Amino acid sequence: MIVGVVPSPGNRHLINRPARRKDARQPPWKSRLVRQLGHTGPMRIELAGLPGDPARPNEDFVSAVLPASGRGGVLVLLDGVTPPPSGDDGCAHSVAWFTARLGGALVELCAARREMSLRACLAEAIVRTAAAHGDGCDLAHRRTPQATVVLARWDGTRVEHLVLSDSVLLVEAADGAVTAVLDDRIARLAARGPVTDAQRNAEGGFFTAAADPAVVSRAVTGVLPRAEVRALAALSDGASRWVEVFRAGDWAQCLGLLAKSGPSALIDRVRAAELADPQCAAFRRGKAHDDASAVYVEL
Ligand SMILES: [Zn+2]
Repeated sequence: MIVGVVPSPGNRHLINRPARRKDARQPPWKSRLVRQLGHTGPMRIELAGLPGDPARPNEDFVSAVLPASGRGGVLVLLDGVTPPPSGDDGCAHSVAWFTARLGGALVELCAARREMSLRACLAEAIVRTAAAHGDGCDLAHRRTPQATVVLARWDGTRVEHLVLSDSVLLVEAADGAVTAVLDDRIARLAARGPVTDAQRNAEGGFFTAAADPAVVSRAVTGVLPRAEVRALAALSDGASRWVEVFRAGDWAQCLGLLAKSGPSALIDRVRAAELADPQCAAFRRGKAHDDASAVYVEL
């Protein structure tokens, strides 16, 4: 994850003004099925991930589950925060260990415990992961392993979502309008000056999933009627930079690319843009390449 992202029109607001995808009209048979059955038939899910550096572990975690508790499904996307150059994080474990633990717990809880809210699932997953560290790790350390979080869970009647820190959730409505659900704290801080470690998980700063379950109160959450959602996508900031850094398209065009060509095509285009600007001169960014993950779900 990159802290200090360049603020952009794409991430100033928690919920972006919806843009419309050109080819987005839902066929009449689909809306009829939604009305009659509460769903439209088989779901389509595609996901892809690529490490920023092939010599380093990919610290993103991405998963999608069908079904959750017998109905609908779940998506989980985490972006592990890159450790400090000094390596001082008070922990015996790697960031990849942390995201795998937290992501695994989230998949289990969100999929099996539908009676728990997504905030409650995240709190419990943080508690479980903190316990797995063991006594040798300093979980009060500001740089203890931590991650951004995107969760979505759907069934025949509703779609729940949760976003914490700077990964992105895109929601395409039945009429083709695309909304970006964002926790824009880092972008707002970056607009005022350099984002620092002192602002990490601190009042007035920005928040990530680390070892304190109380952070779930900071997450952006919502619930939408199932019939009003046609597709979802989650992106780590290594993938969302196609919009937020390279300005190659807006959120609706990003979702259109995911629908037409899949997450791997989006990541390929990000890599191509990065390779065309290896010194980060034309497009300011913290790293030439970042771990990139994306999942696309057509409900
Ligand atoms: Zn540890």
